[in-house]
Amino acid sequence: MTAKVGIPRGLFFYKLYPLWKTFFEELGTEVVVSDQTSKRILDDGVKSCVDEACLPVKLFFGHVINLKGKVDYLFIPRLTSISRNEYICPKFGGLPDMIRNSFDNIPLVIDTEINLRKKKENEIKAVLETGRYFSSDDAAIIKAYEKALESYGNYKKQIESGIFPGDIIDKKLAVLKKPQENALNIAVIGHAYNLYDRYANMDLLRKLKNMGVNPVTVEMLDSGEIDSYAKTLNKQMFWYFGRKAVGSALSISNNENMNGIIYIMAFGCGVDSFVCDMAERNVRNRRDIPYIVLTIDEHSGEAGLDTRLEAFIDMIRWRKKNEADVSAYG
Ligand code: SF4
Repeated sequence: MTAKVGIPRGLFFYKLYPLWKTFFEELGTEVVVSDQTSKRILDDGVKSCVDEACLPVKLFFGHVINLKGKVDYLFIPRLTSISRNEYICPKFGGLPDMIRNSFDNIPLVIDTEINLRKKKENEIKAVLETGRYFSSDDAAIIKAYEKALESYGNYKKQIESGIFPGDIIDKKLAVLKKPQENALNIAVIGHAYNLYDRYANMDLLRKLKNMGVNPVTVEMLDSGEIDSYAKTLNKQMFWYFGRKAVGSALSISNNENMNGIIYIMAFGCGVDSFVCDMAERNVRNRRDIPYIVLTIDEHSGEAGLDTRLEAFIDMIRWRKKNEADVSAYG
């Protein structure tokens, strides 16, 4: 019987799903993804997770519940670092234990540690450790990983061309426009799981599109350029996400075609509370570009978000028409 590997649609799902899917499928398994985030998934997550956790972790719990009884394995890697000399949020490291200790009778958790901070060889070690759940042939596991990297490379190219990750995964390939002259281009900065989970952010990216705005996300920007701007900071960032967010904000503030920045942060996120402020301060030192912070949590009301968004966009349009005599503070 074909083994079923469950992948919760949360946290690093929108970044790495095509890589994981191809890898597991090449090893002969069936990949099952939890349903789209819904009120039910959110409520289940809120009930089963500790109160202090951030919204994305609560949602992840809800997605695990959604997969219970449907799969033989749950893939919840212990992500410590995904880049040289940088860490990611410690919640990722504790996630497999949080899940195991919160539920009875869950499928076997594949919790391979991924720690690329020091050694590149750790990548292959993690690949083999994961693949050996399904194959004793190391050469076949490496081959599956090479195919997975290919899929991942294509996925990244599609995102850079302006397609949202969720649309690529769900095969709705509507191309969004990248920054254009004479259009209203707004950068949306935040963790991938806050930007692309349509339920969690109340479909903010589509709302912008419907307002005639081109939303440009971190993943659509040139990663080399993000890195160059991040290097202009006085000190190297400790967090992978911090480098991406601050580097993106600086790159955008130097692009005259960009008209504003929206930073989406999750309530209860320690990383965001620091990075968001740092990004804003650095942008303000360079350019007077409108900048707004939108916080999402499980109690967020859609009407409140719509009002702030509309006011922000109206202000930018007004400012564009009537010169720079309107406050850049949203
Ligand atoms: S970075 Fe923030 S939002 Fe992401 S898991 Fe950590 S605390 Fe939660």
